[in-house]
Amino acid sequence: MVLFINKNTLASSLEAVQLEAGSGSVASYIPALQQADPAAFGCVVHYGREKVKAGDTDIYFTLQSISKVISLALALMDKGSEEVFSKVGMEPSGNPFHSIQTLEKEKPAKPLNPMINAGALVVADMLQEKEPDAAARRFVRLIREITSNPEIDICFETAASERNHSNLNRALCYFLKSHGVIENDVEQVLNTYINLCSVRVNSCDLARIGSVLGRDGQDPETGEQLIPAWTAEMVTTFMVTCGMYDASGSFAVKAGIPCKSGVSGALLGSLPDGTGIGVYSPPLDSHGNSAAGTRLLEKLSSDYQLSIFSGR
Ligand code: GLU
Repeated sequence: MVLFINKNTLASSLEAVQLEAGSGSVASYIPALQQADPAAFGCVVHYGREKVKAGDTDIYFTLQSISKVISLALALMDKGSEEVFSKVGMEPSGNPFHSIQTLEKEKPAKPLNPMINAGALVVADMLQEKEPDAAARRFVRLIREITSNPEIDICFETAASERNHSNLNRALCYFLKSHGVIENDVEQVLNTYINLCSVRVNSCDLARIGSVLGRDGQDPETGEQLIPAWTAEMVTTFMVTCGMYDASGSFAVKAGIPCKSGVSGALLGSLPDGTGIGVYSPPLDSHGNSAAGTRLLEKLSSDYQLSIFSGR
Protein backbone atom coordinates (compact mmCIF):
# COMPACT_ATOMS: atom_id res chain seq x y z
CA MET A 1 0.00 0.00 0.00
CA VAL A 2 2.41 2.66 1.22
CA LEU A 3 4.92 1.10 -1.18
CA PHE A 4 2.98 2.61 -4.10
CA ILE A 5 3.70 6.10 -2.88
CA ASN A 6 6.69 7.50 -4.73
CA LYS A 7 8.03 10.96 -5.36
CA ASN A 8 5.74 11.57 -8.34
CA THR A 9 2.53 10.20 -6.87
CA LEU A 10 3.11 12.13 -3.64
CA ALA A 11 3.80 15.33 -5.57
CA SER A 12 0.60 14.96 -7.60
CA SER A 13 -1.46 14.26 -4.45
CA LEU A 14 -0.01 17.44 -2.94
CA GLU A 15 -0.87 19.41 -6.04
CA ALA A 16 -4.45 18.07 -6.14
CA VAL A 17 -5.05 19.01 -2.51
CA GLN A 18 -3.42 22.40 -2.90
CA LEU A 19 -5.85 23.17 -5.68
CA GLU A 20 -8.93 22.15 -3.74
CA ALA A 21 -7.96 23.37 -0.23
CA GLY A 22 -7.32 27.11 -0.42
CA SER A 23 -9.07 27.78 2.90
CA GLY A 24 -8.07 28.24 6.51
CA SER A 25 -5.93 30.82 8.25
CA VAL A 26 -2.56 30.80 9.98
CA ALA A 27 -2.70 30.78 13.82
CA SER A 28 -2.31 34.28 15.20
CA TYR A 29 -2.86 33.97 18.95
CA ILE A 30 0.87 33.23 19.27
CA PRO A 31 2.29 36.16 17.25
CA ALA A 32 5.44 34.27 16.16
CA LEU A 33 3.30 31.69 14.35
CA GLN A 34 1.86 34.42 12.15
CA GLN A 35 5.21 34.78 10.40
CA ALA A 36 4.69 31.39 8.70
CA ASP A 37 4.35 31.33 4.92
CA PRO A 38 0.70 30.35 4.25
CA ALA A 39 1.67 28.89 0.86
CA ALA A 40 4.23 26.46 2.30
CA PHE A 41 3.16 22.84 1.82
CA GLY A 42 5.29 19.77 2.17
CA CYS A 43 5.00 16.10 2.99
CA VAL A 44 7.46 13.32 3.81
CA VAL A 45 6.59 9.63 4.00
CA HIS A 46 9.14 7.50 5.81
CA TYR A 47 9.06 3.72 5.62
CA GLY A 48 11.84 1.22 6.09
CA ARG A 49 14.99 3.10 5.23
CA GLU A 50 13.20 4.98 2.46
CA LYS A 51 12.03 8.56 2.55
CA VAL A 52 9.71 10.01 -0.09
CA LYS A 53 9.44 13.80 -0.15
CA ALA A 54 7.26 16.31 -1.98
CA GLY A 55 6.85 20.07 -1.71
CA ASP A 56 8.48 22.34 0.88
CA THR A 57 10.07 19.74 3.12
CA ASP A 58 13.08 21.75 4.33
CA ILE A 59 11.09 24.40 6.18
CA TYR A 60 11.43 24.40 9.96
CA PHE A 61 8.40 24.93 12.22
CA THR A 62 7.58 24.31 15.85
CA LEU A 63 5.97 21.13 17.17
CA GLN A 64 3.27 22.90 19.19
CA SER A 65 0.74 20.27 20.29
CA ILE A 66 2.66 17.44 18.61
CA SER A 67 5.03 17.77 21.58
CA LYS A 68 2.19 16.32 23.71
CA VAL A 69 2.78 12.87 22.18
CA ILE A 70 6.43 12.74 23.24
CA SER A 71 5.94 14.41 26.63
CA LEU A 72 3.30 11.77 27.40
CA ALA A 73 5.76 9.05 26.36
CA LEU A 74 8.37 10.48 28.77
CA ALA A 75 5.89 10.70 31.67
CA LEU A 76 4.75 7.11 31.04
CA MET A 77 8.37 5.93 30.98
CA ASP A 78 9.08 7.77 34.26
CA LYS A 79 5.96 7.13 36.29
CA GLY A 80 4.13 4.20 34.68
CA SER A 81 0.58 4.34 33.38
CA GLU A 82 -1.19 3.95 36.72
CA GLU A 83 0.32 7.10 38.20
CA VAL A 84 -0.01 9.13 35.00
CA PHE A 85 -3.68 8.25 34.53
CA SER A 86 -4.51 8.92 38.15
CA LYS A 87 -4.07 12.61 37.26
CA VAL A 88 -5.13 12.79 33.63
CA GLY A 89 -7.92 10.90 31.91
CA MET A 90 -8.11 8.82 28.74
CA GLU A 91 -11.28 10.20 27.15
CA PRO A 92 -11.67 12.46 24.10
CA SER A 93 -12.92 15.88 25.13
CA GLY A 94 -15.02 17.05 22.18
CA ASN A 95 -13.97 20.56 23.22
CA PRO A 96 -11.32 22.92 21.84
CA PHE A 97 -7.77 22.18 23.03
CA HIS A 98 -7.56 25.07 25.52
CA SER A 99 -11.01 24.64 27.06
CA ILE A 100 -11.37 25.09 30.83
CA GLN A 101 -15.06 24.04 30.91
CA THR A 102 -14.82 20.36 31.73
CA LEU A 103 -12.16 20.87 34.39
CA GLU A 104 -14.70 22.55 36.63
CA LYS A 105 -17.18 19.71 36.24
CA GLU A 106 -14.76 16.96 37.27
CA LYS A 107 -14.33 16.48 41.02
CA PRO A 108 -11.42 16.20 41.74
CA ALA A 109 -10.25 18.29 38.77
CA LYS A 110 -8.80 15.91 36.21
CA PRO A 111 -8.11 16.90 32.58
CA LEU A 112 -9.93 14.56 30.20
CA ASN A 113 -6.83 13.49 28.28
CA PRO A 114 -3.11 14.31 27.80
CA MET A 115 -3.58 15.72 24.26
CA ILE A 116 -5.48 18.84 25.39
CA ASN A 117 -3.63 21.72 27.02
CA ALA A 118 -4.84 21.06 30.58
CA GLY A 119 -3.71 17.43 30.34
CA ALA A 120 -0.36 18.34 28.81
CA LEU A 121 0.25 20.86 31.60
CA VAL A 122 -0.28 18.08 34.14
CA VAL A 123 2.15 15.91 32.15
CA ALA A 124 4.68 18.80 32.12
CA ASP A 125 4.32 18.95 35.92
CA MET A 126 5.16 15.23 36.15
CA LEU A 127 8.36 15.77 34.17
CA GLN A 128 9.78 18.40 36.55
CA GLU A 129 13.22 17.85 38.07
CA LYS A 130 15.23 20.03 40.48
CA GLU A 131 16.76 22.13 37.68
CA PRO A 132 13.97 24.24 36.09
CA ASP A 133 15.05 23.54 32.50
CA ALA A 134 16.02 19.87 32.97
CA ALA A 135 12.70 18.55 31.62
CA ALA A 136 12.95 20.54 28.39
CA ARG A 137 16.60 19.51 27.90
CA ARG A 138 15.65 15.87 28.33
CA PHE A 139 12.76 16.23 25.89
CA VAL A 140 15.07 17.77 23.27
CA ARG A 141 17.59 14.92 23.79
CA LEU A 142 14.89 12.31 23.14
CA ILE A 143 13.61 14.14 20.04
CA ARG A 144 17.18 14.31 18.69
CA GLU A 145 17.56 10.57 19.26
CA ILE A 146 14.22 9.69 17.66
CA THR A 147 14.79 11.90 14.62
CA SER A 148 18.52 11.14 14.44
CA ASN A 149 18.94 14.89 14.01
CA PRO A 150 21.38 16.35 16.59
CA GLU A 151 20.58 19.90 15.51
CA ILE A 152 17.05 20.01 16.80
CA ASP A 153 16.50 22.64 19.46
CA ILE A 154 13.98 24.97 21.06
CA CYS A 155 13.05 28.07 19.05
CA PHE A 156 13.41 30.62 21.84
CA GLU A 157 11.78 33.37 19.80
CA THR A 158 8.56 31.35 19.45
CA ALA A 159 8.74 30.35 23.13
CA ALA A 160 9.07 34.01 24.21
CA SER A 161 6.20 34.98 21.93
CA GLU A 162 3.96 32.29 23.43
CA ARG A 163 5.03 33.16 26.99
CA ASN A 164 3.82 36.73 26.45
CA HIS A 165 0.46 35.50 25.16
CA SER A 166 -0.34 32.52 27.36
CA ASN A 167 -2.86 33.85 29.81
CA LEU A 168 -5.28 31.04 29.06
CA ASN A 169 -2.69 28.31 29.67
CA ARG A 170 -1.50 30.21 32.74
CA ALA A 171 -5.11 30.27 34.00
CA LEU A 172 -5.47 26.51 33.38
CA CYS A 173 -2.24 25.94 35.27
CA TYR A 174 -3.28 28.04 38.30
CA PHE A 175 -6.66 26.30 38.34
CA LEU A 176 -4.95 22.90 38.38
CA LYS A 177 -2.48 24.06 41.02
CA SER A 178 -5.26 25.33 43.28
CA HIS A 179 -6.90 21.89 43.05
CA GLY A 180 -3.62 20.18 43.95
CA VAL A 181 -3.33 18.46 40.56
CA ILE A 182 -0.18 20.39 39.62
CA GLU A 183 2.46 20.13 42.33
CA ASN A 184 5.34 22.29 41.14
CA ASP A 185 5.76 26.02 40.62
CA VAL A 186 3.19 27.18 38.04
CA GLU A 187 5.55 29.40 36.05
CA GLN A 188 8.14 26.60 35.88
CA VAL A 189 5.55 24.08 34.63
CA LEU A 190 4.19 26.57 32.09
CA ASN A 191 7.70 27.37 30.91
CA THR A 192 8.44 23.68 30.36
CA TYR A 193 5.17 23.23 28.46
CA ILE A 194 5.92 26.24 26.23
CA ASN A 195 9.50 25.16 25.57
CA LEU A 196 8.35 21.68 24.48
CA CYS A 197 5.76 23.24 22.14
CA SER A 198 8.55 25.43 20.71
CA VAL A 199 10.92 22.66 19.63
CA ARG A 200 11.71 23.23 15.96
CA VAL A 201 11.65 20.40 13.41
CA ASN A 202 10.94 19.85 9.71
CA SER A 203 8.65 17.37 7.95
CA CYS A 204 11.46 14.78 7.62
CA ASP A 205 11.93 14.85 11.38
CA LEU A 206 8.20 14.41 11.92
CA ALA A 207 8.03 11.49 9.50
CA ARG A 208 10.86 9.77 11.36
CA ILE A 209 9.08 10.27 14.70
CA GLY A 210 6.01 8.64 13.13
CA SER A 211 8.12 5.76 11.87
CA VAL A 212 9.68 5.12 15.30
CA LEU A 213 6.25 5.17 16.97
CA GLY A 214 4.84 2.81 14.31
CA ARG A 215 7.75 0.42 14.86
CA ASP A 216 6.90 -0.03 18.52
CA GLY A 217 9.50 2.55 19.51
CA GLN A 218 12.40 1.14 17.48
CA ASP A 219 14.83 3.14 15.38
CA PRO A 220 14.03 2.32 11.71
CA GLU A 221 17.72 2.02 10.81
CA THR A 222 19.41 0.44 13.82
CA GLY A 223 16.49 -1.32 15.49
CA GLU A 224 17.50 0.28 18.80
CA GLN A 225 14.61 0.54 21.24
CA LEU A 226 14.24 4.30 21.74
CA ILE A 227 10.87 4.21 23.51
CA PRO A 228 9.37 1.11 25.20
CA ALA A 229 6.90 -0.69 22.92
CA TRP A 230 3.99 -0.39 25.38
CA THR A 231 4.54 3.37 25.54
CA ALA A 232 4.56 3.74 21.74
CA GLU A 233 1.34 1.72 21.60
CA MET A 234 -0.33 3.90 24.22
CA VAL A 235 0.61 7.25 22.67
CA THR A 236 -0.44 6.19 19.17
CA THR A 237 -3.79 5.11 20.59
CA PHE A 238 -4.23 8.64 21.96
CA MET A 239 -3.33 9.96 18.52
CA VAL A 240 -6.35 8.08 17.13
CA THR A 241 -8.82 9.07 19.84
CA CYS A 242 -7.69 12.63 20.66
CA GLY A 243 -4.94 13.65 18.20
CA MET A 244 -6.97 15.93 15.91
CA TYR A 245 -8.65 18.07 18.57
CA ASP A 246 -12.43 17.94 18.36
CA ALA A 247 -12.26 16.55 14.81
CA SER A 248 -10.59 13.30 15.93
CA GLY A 249 -13.73 11.24 15.33
CA SER A 250 -14.34 12.40 11.77
CA PHE A 251 -10.63 12.11 10.93
CA ALA A 252 -10.61 8.51 12.23
CA VAL A 253 -13.56 7.73 9.94
CA LYS A 254 -12.18 9.57 6.89
CA ALA A 255 -8.46 8.75 7.17
CA GLY A 256 -7.98 6.19 9.96
CA ILE A 257 -4.36 7.27 10.42
CA PRO A 258 -3.10 7.74 14.00
CA CYS A 259 -2.24 11.41 13.84
CA LYS A 260 -1.40 14.44 15.99
CA SER A 261 -1.68 18.00 14.83
CA GLY A 262 -0.21 21.25 16.08
CA VAL A 263 -1.30 24.87 15.59
CA SER A 264 1.85 25.56 13.60
CA GLY A 265 0.13 23.61 10.80
CA ALA A 266 2.12 20.42 11.32
CA LEU A 267 0.75 16.88 11.28
CA LEU A 268 2.46 13.76 12.53
CA GLY A 269 1.10 10.46 11.19
CA SER A 270 2.13 6.98 12.27
CA LEU A 271 1.07 3.60 10.90
CA PRO A 272 1.54 0.21 12.56
CA ASP A 273 3.70 -1.04 9.65
CA GLY A 274 6.34 1.52 10.64
CA THR A 275 5.35 4.18 8.13
CA GLY A 276 5.75 7.70 9.43
CA ILE A 277 4.22 10.77 7.77
CA GLY A 278 5.16 14.41 8.34
CA VAL A 279 3.07 17.19 6.79
CA TYR A 280 3.34 20.96 7.03
CA SER A 281 0.87 23.55 5.77
CA PRO A 282 0.21 26.48 8.15
CA PRO A 283 -3.40 27.57 7.38
CA LEU A 284 -5.71 25.92 9.92
CA ASP A 285 -9.33 24.83 9.61
CA SER A 286 -11.99 25.69 12.19
CA HIS A 287 -10.83 22.83 14.46
CA GLY A 288 -7.23 24.08 14.53
CA ASN A 289 -5.89 21.36 12.21
CA SER A 290 -3.86 22.09 9.09
CA ALA A 291 -6.58 22.41 6.42
CA ALA A 292 -4.59 21.19 3.41
CA GLY A 293 -2.59 18.72 5.55
CA THR A 294 -5.76 17.05 6.78
CA ARG A 295 -7.12 16.82 3.24
CA LEU A 296 -3.82 15.37 2.03
CA LEU A 297 -3.84 12.61 4.65
CA GLU A 298 -7.47 11.81 3.87
CA LYS A 299 -6.61 11.59 0.18
CA LEU A 300 -3.50 9.44 0.72
CA SER A 301 -5.51 7.15 2.98
CA SER A 302 -8.28 6.70 0.45
CA ASP A 303 -5.90 6.35 -2.54
CA TYR A 304 -3.59 3.83 -0.83
CA GLN A 305 -5.89 2.26 1.78
CA LEU A 306 -3.84 3.46 4.73
CA SER A 307 -6.60 3.32 7.35
CA ILE A 308 -5.68 1.10 10.27
CA PHE A 309 -9.32 0.03 10.25
CA SER A 310 -9.20 -1.19 6.66
CA GLY A 311 -9.15 -4.95 6.29
CA ARG A 312 -8.04 -4.75 2.66
N1 GLU B 1 1.49 26.03 22.34
C1 GLU B 1 0.15 25.95 21.88
C2 GLU B 1 -0.82 26.33 22.97
O1 GLU B 1 -0.71 25.89 24.06
C3 GLU B 1 -0.11 24.57 21.38
C4 GLU B 1 -1.52 24.42 20.90
C5 GLU B 1 -1.69 23.38 19.84
O2 GLU B 1 -0.83 23.15 18.98
O3 GLU B 1 -2.76 22.77 19.90
O4 GLU B 1 -1.72 27.07 22.78
